[in-house]
Amino acid sequence: PSFAQLGLQPRILANVARAGYATPSPIQALAIPPILAGKDVEALSRTGSGKTAAFALPLVQRLLAAPRPATADQKAPQEGVPGAVRTLILSPTRELASQTANAIRTCAHGCQLMIGLAIGGVPKDRQTRALRGGADILVATPGRLLDHLADGTIALDETTCLVLDEADRMLELGFVEDIQTIAERLPTRHQTLLFSATMPPAVATLARRLLHRPLHVAP
Ligand code: AMP
Repeated sequence: PSFAQLGLQPRILANVARAGYATPSPIQALAIPPILAGKDVEALSRTGSGKTAAFALPLVQRLLAAPRPATADQKAPQEGVPGAVRTLILSPTRELASQTANAIRTCAHGCQLMIGLAIGGVPKDRQTRALRGGADILVATPGRLLDHLADGTIALDETTCLVLDEADRMLELGFVEDIQTIAERLPTRHQTLLFSATMPPAVATLARRLLHRPLHVAP
């Protein structure tokens, strides 16, 4: 199929062309339609498969179609009001989170979406100022995200989508409880996507807990 046949709209297709992608990769062909439809997806996919665009392209399109909550208006951050995160992407490492944020900026070029990054190893205060105004898409490592939640910098009660990227690596790094705690802060009804290069029992258990009638995708 072509990217257009997967259901992506012209403004997203323009960014696909700009990125130089001619045809969808197998994971993109399988995952983009159900993600656009709002379904939960559990995808077996490794780095290099095009997995980042597989979730970023449809999620950007969904964000453009949905109204932005008032607390996610980055132009009017209010003192004492946590910034709303509309879509949250959890990554195992700072490096992957930064790369993912960059890939998302490419997918969201010209869409005027606020893309935030919350990772450890860098001073928190600058991140805090940026996140107070909310984020359409926040890419975060679990530890730093929990810090910002505890500080009241951000809130997840208007978050409509959670992406667990490289879930197997997050579990290897011991983040299972953090992920669970974070997931509990989202509204009951939200979309969850889980991407993992391998599906060991611990990942399957996490998926059973967090995903609702997921579509299984394994190119
Ligand atoms: P990822 O698996 O998300 O780490 O992506 C691996 C690389 O493939 C990145 O450099 C992407 O820019 C690139 N890529 C993603 N989708 C496509 C596509 N459909 N055609 C060509 N390259 C792509």
